[in-house]
Amino acid sequence: MSIRPLIAGNWKMNGLKGESSEVIRELLAKVSTVANPGCDILICPPALVVNELAALCEGTSISIGGQDCHPNVSGAHTGDISAEMLKDAGASYCIVGHSERRTDHGESNETVKAKAEAAIRAGLIAIVCVGETLEEREGGKTLNVISEQVKNSLPEGATAENTVIAYEPVWAIGTGKTPTPQDVAEVHAHMRAELSALMTDANGVRLLYGGSVKGSNAPELMGLENVDGGLVGGASLTAEDFWPIIETGI
Ligand code: PEP
Repeated sequence: MSIRPLIAGNWKMNGLKGESSEVIRELLAKVSTVANPGCDILICPPALVVNELAALCEGTSISIGGQDCHPNVSGAHTGDISAEMLKDAGASYCIVGHSERRTDHGESNETVKAKAEAAIRAGLIAIVCVGETLEEREGGKTLNVISEQVKNSLPEGATAENTVIAYEPVWAIGTGKTPTPQDVAEVHAHMRAELSALMTDANGVRLLYGGSVKGSNAPELMGLENVDGGLVGGASLTAEDFWPIIETGI
């Protein structure tokens, strides 16, 4: 099955309205020079600018997504945002279970699963993040950790259309370090095998790699078997840095 890659940018807590719009305008100018992009392109900005950026991107090849959502539709959850609100603001994807959420907010696999189910309920595509810590890698536990996270974070009713899995080794995020291509390929093959036991269309699920992806390493990482795109943090913050990564999918 041929899989359409997804190149996604996670802006985390970066960008005010003006500069965010400017980056999107620059990316749109570059994308407009490509007749039929061969990949899906996504930016997940801070929630406050989803509405504005989604309006800028309407009818273009760039989609906008959220970085997190609450499992519930609405209610007494001060400071939280529901998947329905993201959808209403124009988002079409939502990242869930990023390691910064798992660490900073103590999110368990069960919480991540509930959030992914909320994203799907709202009509968003859930990007479920998994990844081992350095200690787990050095202890030879990587594949076990990934199995546990995939199995227990995967939303009920997951399909290749509504769910994307992002492998992001925690020790590679924002550090400039990446696993070897062999290590990435091993984990991705393992995730594909795990998913095959859990869903019927596992061969069509997009498996992203994330962790210190940049223009210089993207061609090799994005070219690996079972790597169907990337989730990019720091290098997605400017059009100049992000475009060469997008080009690996175009
Ligand atoms: C991320 O936060 O999802 C990420 C992969 O960050 P970076 O590319 O900066 O390592």
